[in-house]
Amino acid sequence: MVCVNHRDREAVAQCSECGAYICAECANKTEPLKSVCGTLCPSCYRNKITQTHDYYAGQRKKKLASAIVSLICYVVGWILAAAGPGMVFTLIGIVLMGIYPAIAWFRFAGKSIDDYDARHGATYVVTDTGVHRDRAMWLRVVFFFAGLVFGIFITPINIIRWFISAAKNNKAAKICEEQLASI
Ligand SMILES: [Zn+2]
Ligand SMILES: [Zn+2]
Repeated sequence: MVCVNHRDREAVAQCSECGAYICAECANKTEPLKSVCGTLCPSCYRNKITQTHDYYAGQRKKKLASAIVSLICYVVGWILAAAGPGMVFTLIGIVLMGIYPAIAWFRFAGKSIDDYDARHGATYVVTDTGVHRDRAMWLRVVFFFAGLVFGIFITPINIIRWFISAAKNNKAAKICEEQLASI
């Protein structure tokens, strides 16, 4: 058997992913992933690292977006609440400060209710206008306000956590890029 990439070289191993035969030099290049994925050919190695890179790059983008959007909402909200001309601005400011967790909790409640309905069957209510599906809107609203109040205190911590997480994901993505460049 000869190496899939070097037709003049004897194969010493087989890729655990695609079954291709590879020479010692090719096996050596993919060594960093051997303990996790087994022996890989350079092409499968590249695929694995690209997948890993895309995951970290996706997380980096997500965490960074969360951090920036939350930071802007929080700062603008705080300014409005502290220095806004009147009660309405103060209220809008307070809502803005906790809006990110509030929306997340509202969605979480909605998803949990939908999951529950999917498993146990939806509940219906009869009103003057007919039969409606009970979407438990009050529960979603309760979660929204709980998230809002909680969010006012927890958002600064979340922002820091998201920035740290974005930095970690950025580092991991960069390592993947270096590995891709070196093969
Ligand atoms: Zn392969
Ligand atoms: Zn080779």
